Amino acid sequence: MADRNAIDTDPGALPAAQEAITGKAKRGADAALLIGCAGCGQCVEDCPLQLPIPELMGLYNEYLASGSAESLADAYKSITSETGKPGNCGGCRVCEGSCKNRVKIADTVHKLSALFD
Ligand code: SF4
Ligand code: SF4
Repeated sequence: MADRNAIDTDPGALPAAQEAITGKAKRGADAALLIGCAGCGQCVEDCPLQLPIPELMGLYNEYLASGSAESLADAYKSITSETGKPGNCGGCRVCEGSCKNRVKIADTVHKLSALFD
């Protein structure tokens, strides 16, 4: 006959369940942080540096999802190789005025520059 208390006496059972719940909550929190860029490109037209903003927002989302900047360094280099440099963004926020999704572009560009430049 099966031991009804088996789950209570299995030392791995409860921590594993807790870990699953914690992991789910963390993924939910990370998803809530993702940048809501629709990739329309309107902001790029208005940016005096013509920064590749949709690609940069996408890269930042990848960083949030993976938690690893190291694995994205080549992608950052490639995205910014033929454009203005995120490090030169002076925070004029003209881009944000043209974003219907209210993306915090300048802050994100600065975070990317701090991570990769
Ligand atoms: S804040 Fe930076 S990214 Fe936005 S328009 Fe100005 S220079 Fe471009
Ligand atoms: S205007 Fe906003 S939604 Fe459109 S590409 Fe720029 S950041 Fe993304």
